[in-house]
Amino acid sequence: MARYRGSVCRICRRENMKLFLKGDRCYSDKCAFDRRGYAPGEHGQRRRGKPSDYGIQLREKQKVKNTYGLSEKQFRLTFKKADRQKGITGTNLLVLLERRLDNVVYRLGFANSRTQGRHFVRHNHFLVNGKRVNIPSYLVSIGDTIEVTEKSKKVQAIVDSLDAVIRRGLPPWIAVEKEKFKGEVKNFPVREDLTLPMQEQLIVELYSK
Ligand code: SF4
Repeated sequence: MARYRGSVCRICRRENMKLFLKGDRCYSDKCAFDRRGYAPGEHGQRRRGKPSDYGIQLREKQKVKNTYGLSEKQFRLTFKKADRQKGITGTNLLVLLERRLDNVVYRLGFANSRTQGRHFVRHNHFLVNGKRVNIPSYLVSIGDTIEVTEKSKKVQAIVDSLDAVIRRGLPPWIAVEKEKFKGEVKNFPVREDLTLPMQEQLIVELYSK
């Protein structure tokens, strides 16, 4: 199945929580979840029965997959990779998702959402360790530097995003030199660094069936 291309606000409303998928709008009074905090669609306000275990696991997987903007296929491949690694599969999965270049660009403040981060990466706005990388799924490593190309330092959307990053804060595993338009991966994130409420164990249970 391809990546979801509909209204991302519907995803927040479906998952019953703000997932901050739309940059500045998420912090404004235009947020669709703040305005209509019930499920989308004609029967969105109807009382629903108790969901099954499968339903709960499925919703958690959808929430995490859509937060990072992956297709089902990409998400499952990432899960398989996490499962092959040492350690806790659920945590490995979240760390792999965080290490994606489109996410790191967003975390560093070079984009105001992961969707915009993916778009900017595809359009050759970044160098990783001095080399142009335009693959959103590229996995950064400890010590990698990510910088905006000289030409792209004039792109207003990147400048504006850097100004706005203060509001959502910088995670402890990366550092940014705003004046140089340059960031560095200090460490891989640990579970405590990932503050969005995600129950990754439910995804492991779903894919283990
Ligand atoms: Fe979700 Fe942001 Fe849309 Fe609000 S504005 S519903 S947080 S994507």
